[in-house]
Amino acid sequence: MAPAGDREGYWGPTTSTLDWCEENYAVTWYIAEFWNTVSNLIMILPPIFGAMQSVRSGLEKRYIASYLALTVVGMGSWCFHMTLKYEMQLLDELPMIYSCCIFVYCMFECFKMKKSVNYHLLFTLVLFSLIVTMVYLKVKEPIFHQVMYGMLVFTLVVRSIYIVTWVYPWLRGLGYTSLGVFLLGFLFWNIDNIFCDSLRNFRKKVPPVIGVTTQFHAWWHILTGLGSYLHILFRVCFTVVMGITFWASKLLLWPVAPFTAGLSARCQGIWLFFLCFEHPMLS
Ligand SMILES: [Zn+2]
Repeated sequence: MAPAGDREGYWGPTTSTLDWCEENYAVTWYIAEFWNTVSNLIMILPPIFGAMQSVRSGLEKRYIASYLALTVVGMGSWCFHMTLKYEMQLLDELPMIYSCCIFVYCMFECFKMKKSVNYHLLFTLVLFSLIVTMVYLKVKEPIFHQVMYGMLVFTLVVRSIYIVTWVYPWLRGLGYTSLGVFLLGFLFWNIDNIFCDSLRNFRKKVPPVIGVTTQFHAWWHILTGLGSYLHILFRVCFTVVMGITFWASKLLLWPVAPFTAGLSARCQGIWLFFLCFEHPMLS
């Protein structure tokens, strides 16, 4: 990547195997990639709030673990982009794998009874995480990490599509919103990598307030942070939907599903979003 526009800064020479398109130390002496760093706040603050809400609502530990895992990824990413040091890069990239494994576990166990543990799946995912960690520490090849992460995300996408197609079609608004936001983030990640030289040249010619909108890696953080947060909320809604089904049948308000089937996908997403916060199980 062209170093033009990069400056020296507080954390010294870059030792990470990746250096993103944002110009190093361009905003402040103390933060290598300023926008790529502060954009992680969306991956840190909302999940902390989500974890607190989950504890207050008495939700299962898997949801709390999911929110906290996302927060850890955000913090690791903050440290990495702030310093561009190899150790901090690992603090960003390895939790990405671990948090995705937690998400995969939750997605495949979403219809199980509370407090049940699938030891086979747990063992497989822990083994996968250990192998990825050991191989990545050895080969230090970012492509390897990206492929492993991509495989986990692909698994989540397929499982999500299966669930909104065959099990909970009324959740497709929220499911596809989460997926769409995440994939838009991935598109921006690619734009940042592929058109880096053009983006840097463009930023030299325009006022900083316009230039900052072309920090597409920061957009990747914002959109994947939001997409992941919505994905956890989507999973929380399984619990809520099961709760509503039970609650509605008790009050002879069944069926709930045909009522929501008449709504547009977008309305269903908003409706479920509302229910997630208003349902007695979660309030
Ligand atoms: Zn990043």
